[in-house]
Amino acid sequence: ESAALSRIGLAGLAVMGQNLALNIAEKGFPISVYNRTASKVDETVDRARNEGSLPLTGQYTPRDFVLSLQRPRSVIILVKAGAPVDQTIAALSDHLDPGDCIIDGGNEWYENTERRMSLVADKGLLYLGMGVSGGEDGARHGPSLMPGGSHQAYSNVQDILHKIAAQVEDGPCVTYIGEGGSGNFVKMVHNGIEYGDMQLISEAYDVLKHVGGLSNSELADIFAEWNRGELESFLIEITADIFKVKDEDGEGFLVDKILDKTGMKGTGKWTVQQAAELSIAAPTIAASLDCRYLSGLKEERESAAAVLKEAGLSDELGRVSVSGVDKKRLIDDVRQALYASKICSYAQGMNLLRAKSNEKGWNLNLGELARIWKGGCIIRAVFLDRIKKAYQRNPNLASLIVDPEFAREMVQRQAAWRRVVGLAVSAGISTPGMCASLAYFDTYRRARLPANLVQAQRDLFGAHTYERVDRPGAFHTEWTKLA
Ligand code: NAP
Repeated sequence: ESAALSRIGLAGLAVMGQNLALNIAEKGFPISVYNRTASKVDETVDRARNEGSLPLTGQYTPRDFVLSLQRPRSVIILVKAGAPVDQTIAALSDHLDPGDCIIDGGNEWYENTERRMSLVADKGLLYLGMGVSGGEDGARHGPSLMPGGSHQAYSNVQDILHKIAAQVEDGPCVTYIGEGGSGNFVKMVHNGIEYGDMQLISEAYDVLKHVGGLSNSELADIFAEWNRGELESFLIEITADIFKVKDEDGEGFLVDKILDKTGMKGTGKWTVQQAAELSIAAPTIAASLDCRYLSGLKEERESAAAVLKEAGLSDELGRVSVSGVDKKRLIDDVRQALYASKICSYAQGMNLLRAKSNEKGWNLNLGELARIWKGGCIIRAVFLDRIKKAYQRNPNLASLIVDPEFAREMVQRQAAWRRVVGLAVSAGISTPGMCASLAYFDTYRRARLPANLVQAQRDLFGAHTYERVDRPGAFHTEWTKLA
């Protein structure tokens, strides 16, 4: 092969593609880049020159792009998920040869990946669906990578992926995830967990601000302090930074000027849909999705605030009068409530991954997934190492919350957790994520639930039968005759 050919190619040069291409080039792998709109190719070539004469070549047609690559060729595509991926594959695959591989790095629905995988297999092409997390900065300096699909295709680029991924003390944040669309599915659940984390942090903020009366400067200090303990994570760190930023166009802090309406792109919704499909309870993640929907109803909420004023306990500035709140203790309680709630949310995400793995035969290694999330990605956190170790101790762990170490921590934090949720409930401050986690914990840890009554009702109106606690079999009773 000619030395002038590039080792790998990347098509789609928006935020993610540009930065990932520069990361690959910086690690010493010659790369060709292509984008439908030529100006982004020029931009990327300029950046490669300015960021250290990196070995990156711009290409302006799909044909020139493909022909500039060493065989077997590996092409990463990072375009908008959905139809643009199909269009990009169509444009490239005309020029690809059997044994070449397409790697979709977008946030794609896993079934689309499986469909494309069999489509390109007809031409002898290999395929990977690779979750990429870490946003712009991760892509440039070290993301968490979740490649699934053809193992041969993974082997072809393993050296590159190991170099460009975030590095933590136990290795690069990448592993071969499994067959089919498993890489996309794992990335989807990662995003669902991310929804949960962000919701829980926003509830901690809400309680500290409205019940504890903390200012933005105090919040910045508290989150910075939390980031030195068990909660140490990227999301806690950036939250501390957010509270420090003043509004450049006016008085006060920028965070207070931001409209309380969240955007979303679909991965959280897919996670909740999949949980329902697989009969896995994921109430914390579902609560965070519901909150995004409710946040979108800004005008309705403003009208409701006026109509339901009597029921609320806060004044028009959102201040809540709860007597006898000890600020120091509240801060410590909220930290514990946040941690316990977070563990429940991760337990839900991990159980969803296991259920899907069983259904699809993916053989996912949950401890290894926790390990590759330790660096690079948005949910990176010190406590993921503890999740990794929990699954190493027992790969068949029914739930993270019954791992002996996590169980001990949950039990220790129960009282604080209940105090925070209780205080929030009486103050009329909604904490749907923390409440969902606590209800999940309390339901899961109860040996006997009121489901006996539900079964009795089902048997009464639908003759659905019930089982008994004292002998085997299915029973039916003529309830109304006996009542
Ligand atoms: P994006 O805004 O999702 O997509 C823009 C890119 O898609 C441009 O290169 C655009 O080309 C191309 N494109 C759109 N329609 C096309 C079509 N019909 N044919 C060919 N190309 C087309 O870009 P992004 O934010 O960098 O994200 C890329 C992928 O990574 C997405 O799946 C996203 O969900 C995922 N992701 C993003 C982040 C993030 O932080 N942004 C993090 C993780 C994962 P033109 O320039 O020609 O329009």
